[in-house]
Amino acid sequence: MQELFHNIANFVKEKFPNQDFIPLHAPVFIGNERKYVMETLDSTFVSSVGSFVNRFEEMMCEITGASYAIAIVNGTNALHLALLLADVQRDDEVLSQSLTFIATCNAISYIGAHPVFVDVDRDTLGMSPNSLSAYLKQNAVRNEDGFSYNRITGKRIKACVPMHTFGFPCRIDEIATICQEWNIVLVEDAAESLGSYYKGIHTGIFGKVGTFSFNGNKTVTCGGGGAIVTNDEELAKKAKHLTTQAKVAHPWAFVHDAIGYNYRMPNLNAALACAQLEQLSPFVENKRELASQYKSYFDTLNIDFHTELNETSANYWLNSLILNSKEEREEFLTFMNSNGVMARPVWELMHHLSMFEHCEKSDLSNSEWIADRLVNIPSSVRL
Ligand SMILES: *Cc1c(COP(=O)(O)O)cnc(C)c1O
Repeated sequence: MQELFHNIANFVKEKFPNQDFIPLHAPVFIGNERKYVMETLDSTFVSSVGSFVNRFEEMMCEITGASYAIAIVNGTNALHLALLLADVQRDDEVLSQSLTFIATCNAISYIGAHPVFVDVDRDTLGMSPNSLSAYLKQNAVRNEDGFSYNRITGKRIKACVPMHTFGFPCRIDEIATICQEWNIVLVEDAAESLGSYYKGIHTGIFGKVGTFSFNGNKTVTCGGGGAIVTNDEELAKKAKHLTTQAKVAHPWAFVHDAIGYNYRMPNLNAALACAQLEQLSPFVENKRELASQYKSYFDTLNIDFHTELNETSANYWLNSLILNSKEEREEFLTFMNSNGVMARPVWELMHHLSMFEHCEKSDLSNSEWIADRLVNIPSSVRL
């Protein structure tokens, strides 16, 4: 094992030369970042109104193909807002995955709604349409009001939030069809999948609302930032309204017509975001090239390097290996992290955390299987 791990560490080091410690994902600022940030300072429009916020929203529409994009202060708040737009209410249930980053479940909890966990597919790492469909058939019923209810808890199942894990698109068209059948609003957590496509269509636009993150560790970053995309004009208007304290437009008066939020992305961050989005295509190409080199290498070692489904194109945000066992995973993590190569396990599964251990759930054996074996290895854009 040690010799094998030693060789793997050396291979990674060759890909990222001249670094003492190779991080999992470091940002690179090699485009117009400095120029745009300086322009913003010179303009004095550093806050939530400014030309870069508008430009950022236009760029997000171009990239994703969505009709509307709304700049948000971060990805977690984008999810919170998306669930509000989906009309999720206190004590509703929201279907999601246990294999996800905590932000998905936190956003559901901010509303006082409850996550319900279904399993993921091993080949996409994202929500399994089969598990979703089986859970609903077994536990849900359509009531006269048109909504689906959980027969065990009596709660309304209002929305479904699949996540495209590490940038690998899940079977989102099948999930969309199931949600339609049960009148459940589809909200896509596309935080990790900017630049990833499912059957030629950008992730995030299959449901009513999709959300993105521009946190420091994502494929492109603006320090902190998020976005919502939708094709629904009414929802887009509502999103802009709610993210700006629900202030009624007026030249001077402060009148608000709902409980709003201060969720707008500042122009300073949007400047950085625009410069980064200009480089999205070359960044994703760069990352896909690294993934293909990893793939060839790990094939020679008979180690399972995770790849995209045939009909999808992934951004390979975080490269992933599926090792043979939890013990091997621990050995791998210990070796790599003490030998200059950062490696990480997947997040602790949500239903193992004290806040979510009592949530409703389906059989989660694929989630458990993946969580025991998966490790992420360095995936930054290489200069
Ligand atoms: C990064 C991320 C978010 C949101 O992130 P912010 O750090 O709040 O921008 C949400 N969901 C998933 C799955 C993520 O990876």
